[in-house]
Amino acid sequence: MIERTATCACGQLRVACRGEPMKVSLCHCRECQRRSGGPFGVAAFFARDAVSPEGEAREFRRGSDSGFGLIFRFCPTCGSTVWWESLRVADRVAVALGAFADPAFPAPTQAVYGEHRHAWVPEDIA
Ligand SMILES: [Zn+2]
Ligand SMILES: [Zn+2]
Repeated sequence: MIERTATCACGQLRVACRGEPMKVSLCHCRECQRRSGGPFGVAAFFARDAVSPEGEAREFRRGSDSGFGLIFRFCPTCGSTVWWESLRVADRVAVALGAFADPAFPAPTQAVYGEHRHAWVPEDIA
């Protein structure tokens, strides 16, 4: 089974992910823009039992439009968010696609919050 590892910028926080992601989703929302530092965020969803985190993480919690909270895990040294989870869906986690730094990683199959898409980002990106 394929295993890929997502890591923070300094490398101390990592999460090994076994198998293919359940879903890859691109999000244009402002929170994802601020989290990622880019014009959109991309989440690769995995079953919780398919991921193994390692290293020291800190938490950032915020609410979401669904009414359920989100918990983001980030590296206290370099600040990269590596994965996060929704209190609504306990059996899966989202891993930051960029943290894999893998150009062959499966592409997103959906894009959400298109109303916050930057004008220069293609509409058909997912
Ligand atoms: Zn780090
Ligand atoms: Zn978002």
